[in-house]
Amino acid sequence: MPVVPTKQILDRAFAGGYGVAAINVINDLSMEAVLAAAEELHAPVILQTSVKHVKMTGLDAMYAMWLAYTKDVRVPVALHLDHCPERDVISACLAKGWNSVLFDASKLSVEENQRQCIEVVAEARRYGADVEGEIEGFKRTEEMTGDEAQHVQSLETVVEFVRTTGVDVFAPAIGNAHGTYKTAPTLDAQRVSDIVAATGKPVALHGGTGMSAEQFSDLIGRGCAKVNISTALKIAFMKSGFEFMTEHPGDYDPPKLFAAQRTAVMEMARYHIRLFGSEGKAW
Ligand SMILES: [Zn+2]
Repeated sequence: MPVVPTKQILDRAFAGGYGVAAINVINDLSMEAVLAAAEELHAPVILQTSVKHVKMTGLDAMYAMWLAYTKDVRVPVALHLDHCPERDVISACLAKGWNSVLFDASKLSVEENQRQCIEVVAEARRYGADVEGEIEGFKRTEEMTGDEAQHVQSLETVVEFVRTTGVDVFAPAIGNAHGTYKTAPTLDAQRVSDIVAATGKPVALHGGTGMSAEQFSDLIGRGCAKVNISTALKIAFMKSGFEFMTEHPGDYDPPKLFAAQRTAVMEMARYHIRLFGSEGKAW
């Protein structure tokens, strides 16, 4: 099973009551390692790229890597552009072949976000691609004040946004944040149930790194079919590199360092794939 539309992966997970890991990759090594873990566990997986890494690597180089690593892939995979406020980057990724994009206009008014998101969805459809929408934005964990769940849009506004724009998956703020939580976050899980019941669409869970196994299974059961993991990959990648150099001082053979990092990234990906219930769900 080759590269498939993101919506196909998410709709199956949504109907099947499991979550698909949407893991942010940062380079060739992490891309290959996450795909290898998914193949090993016979799991569908979504790979995400940040705007920063697309620009750093170069859009053409990143997509060439994706094509090369997924040429013979045996599980359903999709490439997603995470949080992107820049319309030109969205257009370039869609034209290149990304399977979905998160149009992040959370800094704009809901009205303007909605107006532009309609355009993004129309543009995506021309390429057979899908769109994730958000209207609230996510803080960094270090900026959290504990009352995040109260600063959200009404359910009516969310439903209106999802219906009007036609986004395929919606990313609500439920007390989650990006980064490393000091303590397990207090999440408004009921909000996920309310949004799913009112829209009939799957929800994307952001800020997954650091949530407990119980929180994941509860939220996935309520309709969080897409579970974003970014910080955990960065930690696995950086820590394994640091540990390797600490344990092997003076060993400057890069392939040995890369092998240690690949092992760590694969282990991190396996852990989340199993935790979210998508092991063995490839078709
Ligand atoms: Zn996010």
